[in-house]
Amino acid sequence: MLIFLKKRGGRPKRAVFPLFNHMIKVNQNQCIGCGLCVGMCPETFMMNADGKSEVLAQTDNECAQNAVASCPVNAISL
Ligand code: SF4
Repeated sequence: MLIFLKKRGGRPKRAVFPLFNHMIKVNQNQCIGCGLCVGMCPETFMMNADGKSEVLAQTDNECAQNAVASCPVNAISL
């Protein structure tokens, strides 16, 4: 992602930021509440009051990718 930052009295300054276009999601209807994703990525997933996993924070994409691959019912998507 290329963003132009306005600079007073001169040319706009360019800045390059990494493009995070993923969004970690848990399908609540598919989740069987095994807790695997929460055990793997406690900063990203948590168990809710219904005993299903939900996204705690959109962090650690690499760990989330491993959770996607490990979920037994394919309930996690990026
Ligand atoms: S690994 Fe899949 S089934 Fe298990 S708690 Fe996480 S989302 Fe639910």
